[in-house]
Amino acid sequence: MGRKQFKAESKRLLDLMINSIYTHREIFLRELISNASDAIDKIYYKALMDESMTFDKENYFIRVVPDKANRTLRISDTGIGMTQEELDDNLGVIAKSGSLAFKKENELKDGYDIIGQFGVGFYSAFMVSDVVTVISKAYGSDQAYKWESRGAEGYSIEPCDKDAVGTDIILKIKENTEDEKYDEYLDEYRLKAIIKKYSDFIRYPIKMDITKSRPKEGSEKDYEDYTEEQTVNSMVPIWKKNKNELSREDYDNFYSEKHYGFDKPVKHIHISVDGAVSYNAILFIPEKTPFDFYTKEYEKGLELYSKGVMIMNKCADLLPDYFSFVKGLVDSEDLSLNISREMLQHDRQLKLIAKNIKTKIKNELENLLKDEREKYEEFFKAFGRQLKYGIYSEFGGNKETLQDLLMFYSSKEKKQVTLDEYVSRMPEDQKYIYYAAGDSIERIEKLPQAELVSDKGYEILYFTDDVDEFAIKMMMNYKEKEFKSVSSSDLGIEANQDAADADEKDNKELFEHMKNALAGKVKDVRASKRLKNHPVCLSNEGELSIEMEKILNAMPNNPSIKADKVLEINIGHDVFKALKHAYENDKEKLELYTSLLYSQALLIEGLPIQDPVEFTNNMCKIMV
Ligand code: ADP
Ligand code: MG
Repeated sequence: MGRKQFKAESKRLLDLMINSIYTHREIFLRELISNASDAIDKIYYKALMDESMTFDKENYFIRVVPDKANRTLRISDTGIGMTQEELDDNLGVIAKSGSLAFKKENELKDGYDIIGQFGVGFYSAFMVSDVVTVISKAYGSDQAYKWESRGAEGYSIEPCDKDAVGTDIILKIKENTEDEKYDEYLDEYRLKAIIKKYSDFIRYPIKMDITKSRPKEGSEKDYEDYTEEQTVNSMVPIWKKNKNELSREDYDNFYSEKHYGFDKPVKHIHISVDGAVSYNAILFIPEKTPFDFYTKEYEKGLELYSKGVMIMNKCADLLPDYFSFVKGLVDSEDLSLNISREMLQHDRQLKLIAKNIKTKIKNELENLLKDEREKYEEFFKAFGRQLKYGIYSEFGGNKETLQDLLMFYSSKEKKQVTLDEYVSRMPEDQKYIYYAAGDSIERIEKLPQAELVSDKGYEILYFTDDVDEFAIKMMMNYKEKEFKSVSSSDLGIEANQDAADADEKDNKELFEHMKNALAGKVKDVRASKRLKNHPVCLSNEGELSIEMEKILNAMPNNPSIKADKVLEINIGHDVFKALKHAYENDKEKLELYTSLLYSQALLIEGLPIQDPVEFTNNMCKIMV
């Protein structure tokens, strides 16, 4: 078979990877060992399920063999192997899943991001080798094949001899350069240390011949070298180990090894439960939002093991949607090995585990909030939106679980606060939890609607996420305090009510006239009880706020939805005198003013004005 080209994207990525100044070259070994382990998992699983296959634990292992003389490093496994097609398919295309994201050139500066995020594991071999040779014989096949590549220019596949089923990966290690000592990847002790660091928990033995020295027969002074086969890894999966024996670094390494993310986890949760249901789990709360987290492509789920054998790599039923950012795995003795995906959904044990996990995550997040506030705020910046969706999407059904994990920006504290903090410092006369919704903190800060509430000295929560207002509408209240938008027509604050009422009566016809001029646009025109300095604002009646209208209308295929808007006029403002004067002397001018004020109110809200040309023409009319 002739030379084949890598798929275009793969070629680019390979170039990048080989040439990137990469500080963690040693992880190539972790990647190759992890592939070997996956391959053994596959044949092991087959053997467990298939009665006709003989099964001997001794037969499953990985071997690492450095050869200094020939500058090669071999990693062999007794796994399932690859057929000719599989060699072509699996090793000819890099990172099928991540291909789209590779287009984001700027994220490719550091090879680490790529490897971590998309698991281009196998190709990391090229970081340390000039030539990579893969000799593989697939289970159930008579013929072995050899895949070989010198990097970006392509690869070849041809038949070859190999007795046992499994795969040998042979790396021709690069020559040392001034900056890189590739020799270390041929050194037994260095290799042993790398394996210990990243692959200690691999369930199969990783064997190496280790050179030792002993006194020569019959001599005290003369020593001779001899080699002894050792199993380098402890083989105890990290989740079965005692928490006290493990360091933060162990968990972090495991997180990277598993490709859970390219960041460092903010927190790990190590669970060992023995009871109605028994299981071990290691869960991670990532630090950074994965690039596809808020897209449809993101798949939640935990790895699921039964008695140490992986049975599913993304079990979605173990995590509620609002905790979909959690990564990790669960291993239980109580699950059957040959359980199907469909059966698993109804499995009682699995449901118990899921419930248990949910509570643990919630508690850990609450502890983080209590003990490491800054870290929690970082976490909330990355995943808070998901928690709010959680409240919204189940119609407030998750309120109890999630309400104390929420944070919003506070007008008083000028930072994120919890609802509990807000409520606990509410003055006695304050009835509601006030909030203001808008695009940004800066914009909300300037909202005229907030004046009265601010003047009363009440704290206001700023809702800047689209989902915020929808979520709290589902919550209804927190600790029996209802939420109230500063833009709602009734604020529940007594503000010189009588005077305002009287004024409104006095000006009934004026407002009526203005309302007719704005027919179809506003529900009413009124004297404002909240404005102090600003001439106008919009408020709304009913459940649908103006902010919600904006958000809903920005969604594709949504029928246009309108909030019931009220144009509020500040009757203490000089503008009002002008309105009155126009009403008495020049109705046409009143209509012009009305249209202008309405447009201004829209602009303040961040809503588009329907006819900007008309608006500017109107402005000019006033000026001349
Ligand atoms: P990933 O492990 O994330 O799938 P890799 O680039 O590490 O990505 O490996 C690509 C694929 O090549 C694997 O999914 C597997 O199908 C195949 N493969 C790699 N190494 C081996 C091996 N030692 N034995 C059998 N298959 C392998
Ligand atoms: Mg891999």
